[in-house]
Amino acid sequence: MSKVCETVLEIDLRALKRNATYLKSKLQPDTKFLAVVKAFSYGNDSEFIASYLEKEVGVDYFAVAYTSEGVALRKAGIKSPILVLHPQSINFDELIAFKLEPSIYSSFVLNAFIAEAEKKGLNKYPIHLKFNTGLNRLGFSKSEISYVVGRLNASSSVYVHSIFSHLAASEDMNEIEFSKKQINCFVEMAQNLESKIGYNSLWHMCNTSGILNYPEAHFNMVRSGIGLYGFGNDPKFNSFFTPIGSLKTIISQIHEVLPGESLGYNRGFIAHKKTRSATLPLGHADGIGRQYGNGKGYVIINHKKARILGNVCMDMLMVDVTDITCKEGDEVLVFGLDPTAEDLAATTGTISYELITGISQRVKRVFIT
Ligand SMILES: *Cc1c(COP(=O)(O)O)cnc(C)c1O
Repeated sequence: MSKVCETVLEIDLRALKRNATYLKSKLQPDTKFLAVVKAFSYGNDSEFIASYLEKEVGVDYFAVAYTSEGVALRKAGIKSPILVLHPQSINFDELIAFKLEPSIYSSFVLNAFIAEAEKKGLNKYPIHLKFNTGLNRLGFSKSEISYVVGRLNASSSVYVHSIFSHLAASEDMNEIEFSKKQINCFVEMAQNLESKIGYNSLWHMCNTSGILNYPEAHFNMVRSGIGLYGFGNDPKFNSFFTPIGSLKTIISQIHEVLPGESLGYNRGFIAHKKTRSATLPLGHADGIGRQYGNGKGYVIINHKKARILGNVCMDMLMVDVTDITCKEGDEVLVFGLDPTAEDLAATTGTISYELITGISQRVKRVFIT
């Protein structure tokens, strides 16, 4: 790998393929695989990642959160079906124009979509019904099924291509009982709906940790995001995944801060002894938030941990290299294989998902094939 000369997010597509292959090895041969590529493929560039998955790995479906994300994928040439997990009715015209498939999660959204589909004279447009089985975020409740059935049976403009729900704590082994209750509730709701609409749909419930922990709930399809990007959400699974993104930067300048002197905004760090600091071209506008400042977060320089000194600035941060042999221009690892984004996220009590999705568009993406 060539040495970096600026802040870059290196994305290892071979690792993406390995992660996908591992996840697929957990499935029955006829279980479909949906790749979740919302939020810029968790910060990794969804157009590039989705193209690679479509061409080099093979997936049955993609999912994004919002219509605009699906439109971007279509404009990038993605042909596979795309489920929009959280569409808003104002975007239905565009959603249909780009052959995206909506998650229908409430009566309001159902009625709005049927109205739009009928206005356009559509026949059997694929929709995906979302059931609330305990997350209490999006989805129809049990008591709404008969209303949904009534609306569906009165219109041929849409057809239910899939029925799905989402686990609230699939990675948490203290919540097995709750997760099993969600799974049973989903089966009951799905059976009830299918018996009343008179045809079968694809069932799906599992995200990455669901795939790993609840093989009995794979049904017809699974939805994986974080696993593709290299995290198993559990030390016992992490060794089977490889983080695909490595955030790297360089040392811009080195300073000597003498005892009593301060460093950074609001004098966030005051030197008690002679301190050598390295300034890096990476700040909170790049996705390393202020919460990583003042010694909480760290980076790796020449195999050693360098703690963040003082407050993280918008475009820069400073780290302590007093005990590290290094010079201006040296490469810096922020996260990658060791430490992983999960390790760095844990220093501020957050999770890999938040750190990787927050790496801003300003950071150059470099793909390794
Ligand atoms: C984001 C999301 C997923 C992917 O979850 P991971 O834990 O990243 O695998 C699956 N399903 C839904 C409904 C989601 O919103």
